Parts: sequence; C-alpha cells; structure tokens
Amino acid sequence: MDIKNLTIEEASKKMEAGELTSVQLVSACIENAKKDNGDINAFLEIFDDALAQAEVADKMRKEGKATTLTGIPFAIKDNILIHGHIASAASKILANYVASYDAHVIEKLKTAGAVFIGRTNMDEFAMGSSTENSAYGVTKNPLDTSRVAGGSSGGSAAAVAAGFALGALGTDTGGSIRQPAAFCGTVGLKPTYGDVSRYGAMPMGNSLDQIGPIAKTVADAKIIYETIVGHDPRDNTSVPDQFKNKQDRPVKTIGVPWHLIEVDGIEAETLTRFKETIEKLKKEGYSIVDISLPLTKYSLAVYYILMPAEVSTNLDRFDGIRYGHRTKDAETLYDVYAKSRGEGFGKETRRRIILGTYVLSHGYYDAYYRKAVAVRHEIEKEFKDAFTKCDVIAMPTNPAPAFKIGSKGSDPLAMYLADVFTVPADIAGVPAITIPNGTNKEGLPLDIQFMSTWFDEQALFEIGEVVEKLV
Ligand code: GLN
Repeated sequence: MDIKNLTIEEASKKMEAGELTSVQLVSACIENAKKDNGDINAFLEIFDDALAQAEVADKMRKEGKATTLTGIPFAIKDNILIHGHIASAASKILANYVASYDAHVIEKLKTAGAVFIGRTNMDEFAMGSSTENSAYGVTKNPLDTSRVAGGSSGGSAAAVAAGFALGALGTDTGGSIRQPAAFCGTVGLKPTYGDVSRYGAMPMGNSLDQIGPIAKTVADAKIIYETIVGHDPRDNTSVPDQFKNKQDRPVKTIGVPWHLIEVDGIEAETLTRFKETIEKLKKEGYSIVDISLPLTKYSLAVYYILMPAEVSTNLDRFDGIRYGHRTKDAETLYDVYAKSRGEGFGKETRRRIILGTYVLSHGYYDAYYRKAVAVRHEIEKEFKDAFTKCDVIAMPTNPAPAFKIGSKGSDPLAMYLADVFTVPADIAGVPAITIPNGTNKEGLPLDIQFMSTWFDEQALFEIGEVVEKLV
C-alpha cells in the first residue's frame, strides 16, 4: 500500500466503500515504520495496542458509527498525553512518565475513532527548530536523510512524510508545527491561540502554545482541525464558541509585508518561488497589497524573551521530588534540586531556564520582560490593523529549506533566526498555515505561509486549497 501518497480523505472513502480496513491500513503504517524508523527516528515508540485500536475502529465502522477519522492512523507528539502511555517530551527527566489521563485533543480523536500508532520525537520540551535537542537522537528528514526534519515537531512531520501515519499532531509555540511540516513537504496548521484546548499538552510557553495538525493536504488538515477544535473549560484560555468572531466572506485580498520578507538571510530560491506563487495568485484574480508591519520585525526578539520566561516558570515543577527523574547522589535538599535538574535536562533546556530566570529577575524584569510584553501588544494591534486592509497575509514559512543535520548545532543564535517568519503569528496569536510551494533545485520542499485574523482558520483552508492546485 502506498501510504506515502495516500490522504486521509482517500483512505476514509476506501474504508467506507469496504475496499480497505483500518487493520490493513494500520498494519501497512507499522510495517513502514518497522522498516525505516530505525534510520528516520520519527517515532520514539510504536504502540503495542495500535492493531487492537484498529480492530475497534473497524467494528465502529461496521456498526455505522464511523466518522471520517475512524480507523485513520495518527502519530502524536511526545508532549501530548495519551492515557497509559509514556509522554516524555523527549526529555530524560520524564523518561518513564506514564500519562494518567488523555489530553483534550486525544479525547476528541478517540471519540472520532482515530488510531494512535505511536509517540513522536521532538526537541526536548518543544525547544528547538531541528529535533536535534531530543534526548533520544535526531529525527532525519525522510526526503533527504542528511537533513533535519525541522522542529520541534520533527517526528510528527517526518512520520507523515515517511508514510508511518496519515495524520499527526504537533504543538506550535514559535513555529514548531509549521516549520517541520514545511521541511518535510507537508501541510501544517497553527490554530488561533485559545481555539484548541491545551489541556493535557505539556506547557512550554503557555501564552503562545497551540496544538495543531500536520497532514498531506489542506483538506486533511481541516478534517483534523475540525475534530480537535472546541471550547474546553479545563483550559482557562480556551475561548467559548460564541466569542469566536467568524468571518463570513471569500478571500479576495492578500497582504504581503515585503519589508519583512526581502531581507538578508532569505535564500534566493525561497524568495523567487514565493514571488512566483504570489504572481500566480494575482493572475487568479486576487488583489495583492503591500502591507507594512513595522514592529513585527521585533517578534523574534520579543519571543526569545517571553518564551524563556515562561519556560523557566513551567519547568520549575521538575525538581526531582514532584515530577520526573531524581538524582541518586544528593546529600542536601539543594543537591536534589540541582543535580536532578542538571542530570535530567539537556543543554538547550538549561540555557533557556537560565535566560528566562534572568529576564524575570528583579532589576531586569522592567528592562526585558515588561518591555517585551508591551511590544507584543503593539504587534497584536499591528496585525489587527493589517486585517482591515487584507483578508490574509502571505509570507514564506522558512527563510531556507531543511538544513543539514549538525550545521547549526553549535550556534543557538543561527538556530533561533530560522524562526523569523513563524514567530509573528504566535506573538499575535493569529492562525497560520504552511502549504508546500514546489521544490528547489536539489528537490527540497519550499513553502508558503498564510495568516488570517483571529479564529478565521476557514480563510486559510480556502486560500490553501487554491495554492495547492496552483503550484
Ligand atoms: N523553534 C522555536 C523555539 O525553539 C519554536 C519552538 C516551538 O514552537 N515549540 O523555541
């Protein structure tokens, strides 16, 4: 079975027509994973009960209770809780942590009859852009194994691209759904902040985190999104449906912030392909307007202050006592804290805890954290204003295609700069989607990203489907 080219829509239709069972589909995914996961390292674990879940799904279909996702194999990022399974956030500190409940998104997928094949590799606690910060080895890009799959949801994107699953969930705090999805030639959606419940997802930066789908097509991403979206009182930032201001109009105007895009650091082919696709959209009849987002260029700086601040407070719960790994070698209580954390956390995680503690400390709070919060609000206003002039904003997702494994490892700043186009949507809280945009000379996937106003995911699906046909 050619899982690499099979979409959720197609598989679902085949199952409905009785031409395919979930057991066959899941077996084919597991077979692919058993063959190639040793090299790709997309899955940290393939679940023993995947086939049993598929049998339940097939029964559900026979009883006429199936949804589009019934029997569809999924790969789940290792920071999203599935009851009874390990969830380690790819960290040594949580190596043996077994989830005691399901995340909201998992409940939703279970109700729909989806099958979980396994948990996927990621940068430790979602901090990174290459999955090189995992305690369990890098995930390779299935399209070129000398390159990264992106991060932090690298395992989820690679699992879809390698034919180990038909859909995946990732989390996005500064681009971690969109960047790896794009590097692996797939579609990735970061919903509006507050749209999908974060209950049961391990927090990285609570004011930024969102869970979203990675899939092969816009239609598939939409099916997953519509299954997991919805108000949940257990997440106090989850927005009730009546407050979601739905826009009911076709997309006509596309805003392009050229001043943010035509900058040093963007690769020539990425820029050329982006311009070509914008030209094609113009020929389709869309009106293209140049928009100005003067403060958005500070998004990356703001992100790398706010995110570590939130990381440092979130990760303080891992003290060797309440959660996670405890050192065997401690004489004092202080030793328990310091050594457990030192042994359990990787280098990047420790770097961010230190940065976050610094920007929140007395004396620096006003200089860094408070200023970053203020600039963030200005950036939000800028986006609000921009969406009075256009229906969606277009940008590349990444300044360059997937980079070589090890090429940025020793330079954290170079790695942070890779997030320059994805971070603004997280800072403003608006939804954003990445769509494959052809390939470069070496055959590596290029990408295009669209953002829309808060809770207007429909506009992204609409323009996304147009772009899919054009490129
Ligand atoms: N690459 C970004 C970072 O390292 C984004 C991470 C994310 O979205 N989880 O923080």
